[in-house]
Amino acid sequence: MRTTRLPRTLAALGLVLLAAACGKSGSPPVKGPQPDQLPVYKVAKDFQLPSSSTWKRAKSRGRLVVGAKEDQPYMGEKDPATGVYSGFDIEIAKMMSASLGFDPASIEFKTIASANRETALQNGQIDYYVGTYTINDNRKKLVGFAGPYYLAGQGLLVRTDENDINGPQDLDGKRVCSAAGSTPYQRIAADYPDAELVAYDTYSICVDNLLTYQVDAVTTDDTILSGYAAKVPDELKVVGKPFSAEPYGIGVPRSDNALRFALDDAIALHEKNGDWQKAYDSTLGLSGRKAAPMPPINRYPAS
Ligand code: GLU
Repeated sequence: MRTTRLPRTLAALGLVLLAAACGKSGSPPVKGPQPDQLPVYKVAKDFQLPSSSTWKRAKSRGRLVVGAKEDQPYMGEKDPATGVYSGFDIEIAKMMSASLGFDPASIEFKTIASANRETALQNGQIDYYVGTYTINDNRKKLVGFAGPYYLAGQGLLVRTDENDINGPQDLDGKRVCSAAGSTPYQRIAADYPDAELVAYDTYSICVDNLLTYQVDAVTTDDTILSGYAAKVPDELKVVGKPFSAEPYGIGVPRSDNALRFALDDAIALHEKNGDWQKAYDSTLGLSGRKAAPMPPINRYPAS
């Protein structure tokens, strides 16, 4: 059964994900439940934020440049044929754009891997970043975070024929894959030193390695893992309970407190007016995952 089914799965998922990770195009897009329609966000009229150097630069450029992921189904995904980005993080990025007075359709998305986010914000490559980006104190020394806008938790993805791995305590001697520079990678390295940890730039390469029996498990946030499992439910499953708290923030340049506070306000507004829930339902909600309750916004003072 497995030997006949797996090559087709790879054609559908693995190769496409690899192509996306390498920036190649031409493979047919992966299917899975798709939204009927996406929410439309009201663009703020005459919005001004002159105290934000990032906003002023975007205004004179005429559009926002936003960092994102391109290979995380239902979170941040780029269609290799059309170049269009979609997913819950992408919807959050669009809501923020509307609140800052920019038409979401004009956003220029740039794919930035987990390990490169801080540098991209520090050197002005992007205006803000929305891509499963956990807020923590180490990162706060380098960048600012608006939010959180979601609370995820670390989990494990295995093949459906795997019965021995049900939680991080079962990882001794197992090959576990995660993304370089990510908090899940760091947690396995620190707390489960007997696991054989493998790192790649992206989770989609880890998933390809899982499907071809090169690794035994992929570890990262449950949001990301649910997205992969929803694409190929016959081959992949998420096991165990989440074993960390990963509050997602919008990364901004560290010194731009005006932008950070404006985005905090925007998150609160879109939660209140129902946009957040609509965005979730038409993206990650399609994977069958119920939304975690919205965490309180942490509007920490400028330092
Ligand atoms: N949320 C975790 C992190 O920020 C894992 C997901 C990711 O690598 O984007 O490191």
